[in-house]
Amino acid sequence: SPANAADIGVTGMAVMGSNLARNLARNGFKVAIHNRSVGKTEKVIDSYGDEGEFFPSESTADFVASLQKPRVAIIMVKAGGPTDAVIDELAEHMEEGDIIVDAGNALFSDTRRREAALREKGLHFVGTGVSGGEEGALNGPSIMPGGTKESYDRLGPMFEKISAHVDGVPCCTHVGADGAGHFVKMVHNGIEYADMQVISEAYDLMSKALGKPASEIGDVFAEWNKGDLESFLIEITAEVLHHTDATSGKAFVDVILDQAAQKGTGAWTVQTALSLGVPVTGIAEATFARSVSGSVPQREAGRAVLPAETQDLAVLDEASFIDDLQKALYAAKLVSYSQGFDEISAGAQEYGWDIDLGAMARIWRGGCIIRAKFLNRITEAYERNATLPLLLADEYFTAEITKCIPAWRRVVAFAAANGIPVPVFSSTLSYYDAVRAERLPAALVQAQRDFFGAHTYKRVDGEGTFHVEWSEDR
Ligand code: NAP
Repeated sequence: SPANAADIGVTGMAVMGSNLARNLARNGFKVAIHNRSVGKTEKVIDSYGDEGEFFPSESTADFVASLQKPRVAIIMVKAGGPTDAVIDELAEHMEEGDIIVDAGNALFSDTRRREAALREKGLHFVGTGVSGGEEGALNGPSIMPGGTKESYDRLGPMFEKISAHVDGVPCCTHVGADGAGHFVKMVHNGIEYADMQVISEAYDLMSKALGKPASEIGDVFAEWNKGDLESFLIEITAEVLHHTDATSGKAFVDVILDQAAQKGTGAWTVQTALSLGVPVTGIAEATFARSVSGSVPQREAGRAVLPAETQDLAVLDEASFIDDLQKALYAAKLVSYSQGFDEISAGAQEYGWDIDLGAMARIWRGGCIIRAKFLNRITEAYERNATLPLLLADEYFTAEITKCIPAWRRVVAFAAANGIPVPVFSSTLSYYDAVRAERLPAALVQAQRDFFGAHTYKRVDGEGTFHVEWSEDR
């Protein structure tokens, strides 16, 4: 490749990297491409070379040399060790002021470590969340870049051009310094877990309590997709439920083994929330629900001996039951998002990131898996009050969730009485009742802590820290 020719480069020509490179080329950028094994690079040129201007290189040295200064090289390889290896190789050939972007799914703490190390060498390191899977990478993802403002000045215009657009607004903005982009992408994935699980719980209730076949439940989701719940996940749920298995002729969902897999971003969200002390109960229960589904020996043992002992409640009116489910789903979703935004706030505070929460909702409106109409409302809430302590306390969301509460309580009570597990419906309702409570039983927990560990307590009627000499009092 000619020296200094390309606007930007991508190394890692597996599905994500090649799609991102094609997206850049289709948008008029000159794109240097590289892959550890040459075959993948050749395949991109053979199959898609006419989509734009590509500059292929076989070696890292040539790849770096083919980039205009200050250079921008995007890494899209296997997360973990491979990413570190590629960073080291690129850094060897780069110069002060150049920019290395990791667009893979890295843990934000790895990104912080890498950013600090590269900063020492005068290089910018930009951990970037890219959401939307293969399709998004090719046609417009939601892009969440961290790193320095200076690097965003160079990168931002290119990323904004190739990102998804909603109402003409790009689904990309500078999230914050060092690992902020990967942090926000992580929480995005956690919210995705909660959304998927609560949708599945609504499906389960319709299936078990109403005995509805999958295709009819698909009709309900298609209907819901016309209202407040309108979103990509509701839309594809309807499509999946309408799908017939080609082999058996049965409803597709009915021939799938009921064990959900996970790649770990939900667990990262929950682990991080635990260490920050943020109660993301909806996301945690959704993540654990996948683990429960995969607990095969426990489920076999449980199924064999544990009785249901239900107090069967009948569905008196199918239409109002479905209406209740829709409201409960919306309420549980609002709590999951509120909790997710709390985690982003807590992360921003812990790591010193200046994150515009409303802008995060804005860049999730297109390209990504949780894209939804109602994200506009979150942006508006943070526009009304940038330091809103609780999303649910915004006037719009308070009014919305208020309309859902009776239905939500009926759904959780119905599920409990009928022995149908609803971990996200119920944990989000418990959180709701806790966060609005005048007084919590934490007072008793604190007393217990003082009793056995002399952990001290504070009083409602004055300042200071106290301890009871319990052994003398007994
Ligand atoms: P992948 O299967 O995760 O990784 C394959 C690529 O990594 C190949 O180009 C491979 O090169 C390269 N690679 C592996 N080990 C390497 C090493 N030690 N040195 C240099 N290169 C190495 O690819 P992918 O599915 O396209 O995903 C890429 C990244 O995007 C990952 O971080 C993944 O987590 C993330 N991802 C994101 C989404 C999303 O929705 N945002 C979806 C899928 C994946 P060779 O061809 O030489 O083996």
